[in-house]
Amino acid sequence: MENKQELDWSSLGFGYHPTHYNVRCYWRDGAWGELEVSDSEMITIPMAATSLHYGQEAFEGLKAFRGRDGKVRVFRPEENAARLQSTCRGILMPELPTERFLEAIDRVLELNKDFIPPYESGASLYIRPLLIGLGKQVGIAPANEYLFLVFVTPVGAYFKTGFRPSPMAIMRGYDRAAPLGTGTYKVGGNYAASLKSGVLAHELGYSAVIYLDAKEKLYIDECGPANFFGIRENTYITPKSSSILPSVTNKSLMQLAQDMGLKVEQRPVHVDELATFEEAGACGTAAVISPILRVDDLDEHKQYIISKDGNPGPISTALYERLRAIQYGDYPDEHGWVRLYESL
Ligand SMILES: *Cc1c(COP(=O)(O)O)cnc(C)c1O
Repeated sequence: MENKQELDWSSLGFGYHPTHYNVRCYWRDGAWGELEVSDSEMITIPMAATSLHYGQEAFEGLKAFRGRDGKVRVFRPEENAARLQSTCRGILMPELPTERFLEAIDRVLELNKDFIPPYESGASLYIRPLLIGLGKQVGIAPANEYLFLVFVTPVGAYFKTGFRPSPMAIMRGYDRAAPLGTGTYKVGGNYAASLKSGVLAHELGYSAVIYLDAKEKLYIDECGPANFFGIRENTYITPKSSSILPSVTNKSLMQLAQDMGLKVEQRPVHVDELATFEEAGACGTAAVISPILRVDDLDEHKQYIISKDGNPGPISTALYERLRAIQYGDYPDEHGWVRLYESL
């Protein structure tokens, strides 16, 4: 295991880097047990576990930031706890209580505080909770045992060379989720469904695929693993759909947009509206906002230029800076979003 002395914060990407400990909690005989600490990065599970065969697997993603004041802040972990509970209801896994989720986050941060990057680095500590079916089943049924675990890994600043717009593509030959399927749940299966198109898009030079609704292919769903928003006439517009993952970042940006005096609309967004946006972006924990340069519709051979000068728009930039400032403690936490650790 490496020590932080050996870590070069500035060269970190978004990859897995081992840390000291992870925390685990088992659900057996109808109840969640106590939190356990492990120094192993391995888990041993039955080969007939439902997570391996039938996709009973949920995850979450959030970050801890060290501020200029040295204090550590985790952004809206209660939202992740609630979303994990929603995912559990969606794929018939036992819900982990919010208090236990927060206790696990507190514990894993305390145990790995050496890996929380310094303020100046622009890096952060990514927190990855995971909940999987462990019980053995061959017939299709929910498991009778589950494992919840949380590991952390330091990740670099997302925009190493500054906050830059990138091109995205529409490819109607692929869907990541169906309207009444699992798109609203943070499950690995949705990612399996999006891997092929995501890799293809990268090979073609795009940063992400913009998925349209699977039924009509008329409305914007998501940008790969991030929500979509567009800006037009002082309005923040983001899709409402039964197949997108409710992003904590998007929810926060909607509030900040309102705070900044923008109108906010959450409604179906027709693909033709791409031609009318003054700015657009993908949003999620990893990047906060990835501004969109242009969208190439590879099926209809159309191109929507979003950023005329290649730069992020003023509203996207203001939203990005405000959210980052709240996360790092550089702007007042007016909405009570931050879980603060005075001495980590
Ligand atoms: C996790 C995720 C997001 C982003 O959610 P945040 O809570 O903002 O990180 C968006 N779309 C999908 C499909 C996701 O899995």
